[in-house]
Amino acid sequence: MKRRALTILLLIVSVGFIGCSNQQQSHPPKTLLISFDGFGHDYLQKTATPHFDSLIAGGVQAEGLIPVFPSKTFPNHYSIATGLYPENTGFVNNTMYDPKWEEWYRISDREAVEDGRWYGGEPIWNTLEKQGIKTGTMFWVGSEADIQGMRPTHWKTYDDDMPGKARIDTVMKWMTDSGDQTVDFATLYYSDVDTKGHRYGTDSDSVKQAIERADRLMGYLKDQMMANDLWSNTNIIIVSDHGMVDLSADKLIRLDQIIDMDDLERVNWGPMTGIQPKEGEKEEVYQALKSAEENYRVYKKEDLPERYHLKNHRRVEDIIMVADLGYTILDEDYQDEFIESLPRATHGYDNNKKAMQAFFIAHGPDFKEGEKVGAFQNIHIYELINHLMDTEPAPSDGSIDSVKVLLK
Ligand code: AMP
Ligand code: ZN
Ligand code: ZN
Repeated sequence: MKRRALTILLLIVSVGFIGCSNQQQSHPPKTLLISFDGFGHDYLQKTATPHFDSLIAGGVQAEGLIPVFPSKTFPNHYSIATGLYPENTGFVNNTMYDPKWEEWYRISDREAVEDGRWYGGEPIWNTLEKQGIKTGTMFWVGSEADIQGMRPTHWKTYDDDMPGKARIDTVMKWMTDSGDQTVDFATLYYSDVDTKGHRYGTDSDSVKQAIERADRLMGYLKDQMMANDLWSNTNIIIVSDHGMVDLSADKLIRLDQIIDMDDLERVNWGPMTGIQPKEGEKEEVYQALKSAEENYRVYKKEDLPERYHLKNHRRVEDIIMVADLGYTILDEDYQDEFIESLPRATHGYDNNKKAMQAFFIAHGPDFKEGEKVGAFQNIHIYELINHLMDTEPAPSDGSIDSVKVLLK
């Protein structure tokens, strides 16, 4: 009799225990989203990267991460955050002119960067905060702005000089705080690799050293996560926003030799150059560019290819030039300065070019181990994070089905 009672008691205790541990397992793991700006899909082959290699061995790597067009930093980080194409966020370039507001957005203009009116759609930190999950952004495009009247629980004003390890230390604190502000979703951002690529070219020692610094940061991150008991219950997503291509003095497109610059209201220079002609000059400017179309493509805004997902926004200029890979669109004023600054590299080109693809690695309890998958578009990452966090996504252009292949 006694023995039976003991068995029943043991049964009750163990059922209770299993129930409790099930409850713990059903709580979604934490997610850490990390961006290394300008880290091309092939950069891991440039030098030894033991820490990235070990993340890949225990996780999943994509052959490439396809950016949105233009393959610039701000549109891409914001499309990753929202799962929306640029024409649906209004974040159509790093530099933008809004003809309705008659105002410019520049990434060096703090007031504009922190002004939520520029940022359409719903960033992931808002989606999660609305559903009771605390978030912390150790830099991310848009996270310094008041969007939908909200901000992450923890966020920082962008400071390029803040040391890499200190960024990790701050995020570790946010994720382990015992109070009611404990963060379950955090971001980290590093510009080092992009900066060195622009200044010295993709094959420079400076880029190799920046890749090695990024790799050491991943070693430090792992150590800190292990020490803070975060390693086994955190899904880590490592991305970049775009790749990089070298420029040269023999790949120039002199805009002022093709059209009369006096016919223009403004020019938004870059591998994608936006041209706003003066009233009544659009057809003439377009025809001149069309008849000289060599080493670039030119489109009237309304004829932009659908795959660019760009034409349905007022911040896109009336005529768009897209330079061929590695070509620079400029005028006489800038030519000497440009040539003197070589070797250098840039991005912003057609997002279907392999050289514009970024890298993608994911590691953690929900991701496959030791698998490689094909390239996919970065707009799916918003849905992926919602899936990992067990939250309801806002309407987006991405889909979880496109990235299910990453998951166990
Ligand atoms: P890009 O011109 O497209 O190469 O832009 C990359 C630059 O954006 C980097 O040099 C960063 O320093 C800068 N950047 C990234 N995030 C921010 C931010 N939140 N605020 C201001 N600048 C930023
Ligand atoms: Zn970038
Ligand atoms: Zn850049």
